Amino acid sequence: MRASLLGILLTTGLWAQADLILSNGKIITVDERFSIAQAVAIQGSRIAAVGTDQQIARLAGPNTRRIDLKGKAVIPGLIDNHIHLLREAATWTKELRFDGVESRKQAVEMLRARVKAAGPGEWIYNIGGWAHQQFVDDPRSFTRGELDTLAPNNPVSLQESYYQVSLNSRALETLKIHANLPDPAEFVPGSIERDAAGRPTGVIRGDIAGARAVANQLPKLGPGQLEGGAEALVRDMNRAGLTSFGVPGCDADVLAIFQKWKSQERLNIRTFCLSGTAAGNPGGVDGAIAQIGRMKLFQGDSFIDEVSFGESVYAPLNDPMFAVKSNPPPDQLALWRRMAMAIAQAGLPLHVHAELSSTIDAFLDQIEAVNKEHPIKNLRWALAHVNQISGPQLERMKRLGMYAAVHPWAVINGGIMHEGFGDGAYDMPPLSTIQNSGITWGLGSDGTAANQTRPFTTLYFAVTGKMVGGKKVIRQTISREDALIAHTRKNAYFIFQENNLGAIQPGKLADMVVLDRDYLAIPADQIKDIQPVMTLVGGRIVYEAR
Ligand SMILES: [Zn+2]
Repeated sequence: MRASLLGILLTTGLWAQADLILSNGKIITVDERFSIAQAVAIQGSRIAAVGTDQQIARLAGPNTRRIDLKGKAVIPGLIDNHIHLLREAATWTKELRFDGVESRKQAVEMLRARVKAAGPGEWIYNIGGWAHQQFVDDPRSFTRGELDTLAPNNPVSLQESYYQVSLNSRALETLKIHANLPDPAEFVPGSIERDAAGRPTGVIRGDIAGARAVANQLPKLGPGQLEGGAEALVRDMNRAGLTSFGVPGCDADVLAIFQKWKSQERLNIRTFCLSGTAAGNPGGVDGAIAQIGRMKLFQGDSFIDEVSFGESVYAPLNDPMFAVKSNPPPDQLALWRRMAMAIAQAGLPLHVHAELSSTIDAFLDQIEAVNKEHPIKNLRWALAHVNQISGPQLERMKRLGMYAAVHPWAVINGGIMHEGFGDGAYDMPPLSTIQNSGITWGLGSDGTAANQTRPFTTLYFAVTGKMVGGKKVIRQTISREDALIAHTRKNAYFIFQENNLGAIQPGKLADMVVLDRDYLAIPADQIKDIQPVMTLVGGRIVYEAR
């Protein structure tokens, strides 16, 4: 079909020469047949043709730029359907990130180097993206004493996912946490761990709210530095193969920078906001519903758009990350339903945080009721995270026309989840059950705090069942083809870009990643080590390995 389409274009003279041709490669198109090609031609921002070297060579003209792939594999640009990247712009370059670091020794060396480079009293910190169970050589958290030795003169805050934060003495002092004084008001009650003598150990717990109380007090980039921070963040994401993302919360300051870059044709990542404000308490529901009625999505384009209400509907019903079960009260569910009814009535898509089995069932009860009054079939409502989802729940979702946005927290939290859920953690998430259900589903990270950020680490997890560091933490794995489809073509549906993105096909936007090794052929354990050598967004080379 491609060859004949090409023939028509050539014979009718509709064809201008290609701007760019990539040839002599293994083009993993991720089209509906998962076909493999040798070459691809790009004209402007879109893919003009995909085929054999010989077919594509006919599209070359005197001004065509040619790249010899030398046998390298090419995949569609990776899409994360849910990553908190916009807010990350204010801290990414300040953080000592441990994404993918498998050795504690290496983490300590990184910390030492940062201490050496830091000015006196300067904060050294990260805000999640790792957990100590990922350290193969020595899976331990950092103690107050150890951090004091490593960094006697700098406050240090190392946050493991949203599970716990490790502080040194300088950090405790700076945050005004003292042995003989009550906890500062901004901390979650009980979240500051103290020994028998009342001395703070340096450990802060309290799930998302507990960790955020620390993160909120860490220094961020100022307005004048934010553009540089955002640029470094986007470059690192392009280097990791990411070209599009869905983002809960539409941080206006960073989005304004992206808009500016877009107008200058140098925005190197596509951004799709899940926005809208959840009600936080019963009194907030009427106001939130009024706001839903005024929401206008889809006013943007294939670079920046708002595509869904999310990721919370009624905030008190958000599952904490490390709770092992939930029991959503009927009065709160009634408020959740009122909100959901308004969202359906307004015809808005919905992407909502739902993790634990009872929560998923309770939300589906509400959605089934909503669906009777305002059918949601074509609204692409998605439950997000869903690590504890079951086969029957997936069937209910399919009947409603819903999608599953799967964010395997176990990529870094597998060890913690096994402590909490025991054997049940081996099915969190139940990837093969999800895949075999036939539901539309996509992979994301829920980074940058809850989880790590790198797509090839997520793909490695999905194929091997192993968390960062190599410990096997889930038993339900999927094929590397299905994992890649979930991180590309299927994710395009979540951002309402399936006509533009997700596969290397004529007519689609030319978002592609050239890999240093063949995703389909290497041993599965090496998938995490894949390094993009070139990333293209809309036909522009946005990253090239040197
Ligand atoms: Zn969430």
